[in-house]
This record gives sequence, structure tokens and C-alpha cells, in this order.
Amino acid sequence: MSNSTRSSASPAIQYRVEVSDLQAHLFKVTLTVAEPAALQKFSLPVWIPGSYLVREFAGHLLGLKAKQGNRTLVAGQIAQIDKCSWQIRCTPARPLVLVYEVYANDHSVRTATLGDVRGFFNGTSLCLRVEGQENSVHELDIVAPKAKSDWSLATGLAPHKISKNGFGRYRANDYDELVDSPVEMGAFWSGSFKACGVPHRFVVAGAAPSFDGAQLLADTQKICEAQIRFWHGSKKPPFKHYVFMLNAVDDGYGGLEHRNSTALICNRRDLPRLAEKKISDGYTTLRGLISHEYFHTWNVKRLRPAEFARYDYTSENYTQLLWFFEGFTSYYDDLLLRRCGLLDNAGYLKLLNKTINQVMQSPGRLVQSVAEASFDAWVKYYRQDENTPNTTVSYYTKGALVALCFDLSLRSPTGLNEAGTNASNSSTLDEVMRSLWARCEGGPMTEDDFSAALLSASGRHFDAELASWVHGKTELPLKALLERHGLAVFEEPAQLAQRLGLRVTELQGVVVKTVLRDGAAEHAGFAPGDEWLGIEVGKSGWRMNKLDDLLFYAGQKNKLHALVARDKRLLRLPLSLPTSITTWRLAIQDSTKVNQWLNPTA
Ligand SMILES: [Zn+2]
Repeated sequence: MSNSTRSSASPAIQYRVEVSDLQAHLFKVTLTVAEPAALQKFSLPVWIPGSYLVREFAGHLLGLKAKQGNRTLVAGQIAQIDKCSWQIRCTPARPLVLVYEVYANDHSVRTATLGDVRGFFNGTSLCLRVEGQENSVHELDIVAPKAKSDWSLATGLAPHKISKNGFGRYRANDYDELVDSPVEMGAFWSGSFKACGVPHRFVVAGAAPSFDGAQLLADTQKICEAQIRFWHGSKKPPFKHYVFMLNAVDDGYGGLEHRNSTALICNRRDLPRLAEKKISDGYTTLRGLISHEYFHTWNVKRLRPAEFARYDYTSENYTQLLWFFEGFTSYYDDLLLRRCGLLDNAGYLKLLNKTINQVMQSPGRLVQSVAEASFDAWVKYYRQDENTPNTTVSYYTKGALVALCFDLSLRSPTGLNEAGTNASNSSTLDEVMRSLWARCEGGPMTEDDFSAALLSASGRHFDAELASWVHGKTELPLKALLERHGLAVFEEPAQLAQRLGLRVTELQGVVVKTVLRDGAAEHAGFAPGDEWLGIEVGKSGWRMNKLDDLLFYAGQKNKLHALVARDKRLLRLPLSLPTSITTWRLAIQDSTKVNQWLNPTA
């Protein structure tokens, strides 16, 4: 039977999700397939789109059983065929019922959790994919836990038949939509607003009593309206409703984007507080995160790499374009906070300054291009180790600076290239983004599409810039571009760790995390994991508890010995303190020019 003849009364694929055991963190899933194949394959994704790491969610699936009518299928009829797939031999076209449990005790936005306080899941963790029937309507029936009468449910899925608190039946047009719609359950705070006429809901789990929900809603509304206008002017966005699901914890940060929702995690202390007028740095960071994930609604969930036209859930999905989708989103997240008035120029430039210094302090920027870093995300960015800053560059931070370079070049049409004899027009990256959206109809795109959009907006080719900024490993022309747009760039002595070429932790004494390539610490012979016990200056020795003790005890001397412990051996390393390592400080020189870029409507 085709999908169209199967009426909305009974979708071909139905999942019933209920609590199996709250204390044991177990969900129970019952999957009914109306018309299975004789040899029906099922599999659980190995990754979740937006987070580029193979996580093998099937590792938490337990006790798979299958039934047809009253007949329980036996071992020979159920075979696991690889780490994430099963094959069931059954009578075709008769309802097949699978029952299994999923262990859920991860508080991240990427998997699933279930416990006394809340439940949360992504379909990628709970919902086996019925191979061959991915394009059918999928129904998800979520049962309210008996012991939790105060729990409600939030999700971006379209409700079919639900109770007042949100439990019940939801429907997705296909498997992609199902697993792109996380579900939050609990006694959460909930608020709503309209942005450009579109209903938005914001739920917050784990907030402290001091949480100021009205402030969060008002600020988020400004962000959403600025972004809808950014992409569509006075027209409607490509979604009918949107849900923010935020989990506030003692220590956590992150988000995952979806087509009409996002799951976020933040520090509880970073939420806005009642009767607190001052905006904390933490809340600025949270607003940036909200802005970032919301921008992804367009940039990566709709406009997306051609390679992601249809996700392959069984293995890595490679693309060279994360510098565009994560980097440009990172450029616009804070810029749009500025544009909607949630940051002033100084506040925005402070964040930009930080991004610039982060990139400049990563030796890996000279080793990998952002296109290579995108492709390698699966084994580098998502599997960071002590050597990561030396071998890879962040396609988030450098990608944001690449966006900045394009934007500022487009805004000053003479360009930086001496070869820029082309008569080009003044444009903006905003116009390029909108023209890309129109050109690709809000769907899959390639780097050639970006290149063509640059040409059509500005009247000139950007091939040399793409080759150098995106595929090259040399420094970006940031200084010249920033100065052209009203900023002064000062170089100031760097922090001690940067001067030493080290990253350390100081929780229990000074422990070396990373030795930066070609820095003073590498020359001295430091290794990751070293415990830095103290220094010898001339004839006196001093115990160090934190890195800054070095300056206190060494004074003006820049030749000394470091005493370190490595694998219980004590080592004495000759160390020269360099003076020439600098960081950047941006300052406004010409506020008219700065405003033309940061606040053009003022
Ligand atoms: Zn992102």
C-alpha cells in the first residue's frame, strides 16, 4: 500500500515511547511497522546531524524483541547484522512489532536522558529507522510517566492528538523530520511570544528561582525578529512555529540546531535574573548561543551542503563547507545581537577581539585550511586532544573571520587586491546570504554557489580570496580591512601562557595541557601532562601554585629553569621568556565608519 492510500488515521510507522524505569534511566520503545518486508532491516543512526562525530547510539539499545500477531519471533528470525542494524525475517505486509529499551543518562543535547528531574531525547537515540520506509509518515506517541503528574512535554513536531500538558501523538512527514525533532519532558518553565507573527515557545529546565523569564523572552523575540527580517524582509519565515528547549545546569554550554527547534544547554548562573539590571557576560554568551542556533534554522538546516541533501545515518557525512555553515553563523550570531540592540559597538568589538585572538593563538591555523578542517571535523575538531591547537584550526572562529573579511571587502569595493581594477559595486555579506538563499531555493548548495552569489552581489570575482582565505593557510588581511572600516588595531604584550606557548590547568598546581608549536615551552622541552612545580632563578628556587607566580618570583629575569615532574621523574628545563609575543586590541577610531558596518539603520 502506498503512503497516500494509508489515511492519516494509521501511519505506516508508529513509535510508542514510555518510561520503563526512571531510576534505571530506561526508556521503553514499541515500534509497529504496518507492512514490513519479508527481510526487514532496522538501524539506529551512528551520528546526529549538526554534531560531526560517530557516536554509535545503538550502544545503548537493549533487549530487542519482535512479535507478529501473537507470535514472538525467535532468535533465528532476529539477527543483528552490524553495530547498529538488525534484520528481521517475518511474514511480509503483516504488522510487525518491535520492543526494546534504551539507556538514557547523558545530559548533552545530542543524545537522551531520563531521570527523576527530566527526560529528553533525540529520535536518533530512540527511534530505529525502518529501512525502505523512511519517506512514510512516522507517528510518535509519548506516554506521560505515571509518577510525574507535573511533567509537560515540548517538541517541534506537529501534534496529532495530545493532552493539555503535551503528551500524546505527534506526526512527522518522514524519518528525517522525526529525528530532527528532539523532545523535552519535565516540570519546566514555559513561555511564548510571536516573532513577525510566528508563534515561538521557550521552555527552560533547571532554572533557579531568581530566573527572569520575561527578560529572556523579550530578548529572544528581538533576536528572532531581527533574523526573520534579515532573511525575508517583511515576508514570513519557512516555518510555522518554533521551540527553544534550554536545559540550565551548574556547568554546561552548547546547542544543537533543528529545522523548527533547538536544544540548548547553559550555566544556570548565566540566565537573566529578576531585579538584576546589568547584563552579565554569561548572559551575553547565552544570547549569542540563542542567536547562533536560530540562525542555523536557515544556514545549515535549509541552506546546507550539497552532501547533506539527504543525510546518511550509517557513517560520516563529509563536507568541506563547515567554515561557511558554522563560521558564517558564528559571524552573524553576535553581529545580529548588535543589530537588534542587545549589544553596543564596544560590546560587539570585545567579542570580535576575543575571536581574533583565539585564532591568532592557534598554530594550527598555519597547518590546516578551514576547508580541510571542515572535512576533518569527525576526527579532529570533535576529537580534541592535547595537540589539537597545533594541528587544526577551528572552522567556527576562523570561519567567522573569513565571513568578516568577505563582509568588509564587499563593503569597500576597491578591495584589497592591487588587481582589483574591476569596477565593482559596494555590497554586503547580508546581500550575498540572501542571494544565495534565493539562488539555492533555501536548499543544498556548493562552494560554487557561494562564489556565484559573491559575483552577482559585487560585480567581481572572489576566486583569489576563496583560494587564500578558505583553502589557504596564510594570515587573513584582518588588520587592513578593520582599519578601512574605522577601527584601530593595537598590538599589546600577550598573557603569560601565550608568551610561553602553553595551555595549562591550575586546579591542583600548574599542569601542562598543551605545548604550542614552536613556542618557548616547546624549545625548553615541556611536554603535555607535565606538572610544573617551580622555578629556579639564579641561585634561588620557588614553588609555583599558579602560572602567574612565575612573574612574581622571576621579576625582570627572563632566563630561568623550570622544575617539572613527569612520570614521577623530576626534570630541570632551561627556559627563556620571550617578550615579543603580542595580542590584538581593537579600538574605535572612526565611529561613523564603524556604524555603517555594525549598525547601519542608526
Ligand atoms: Zn553551529
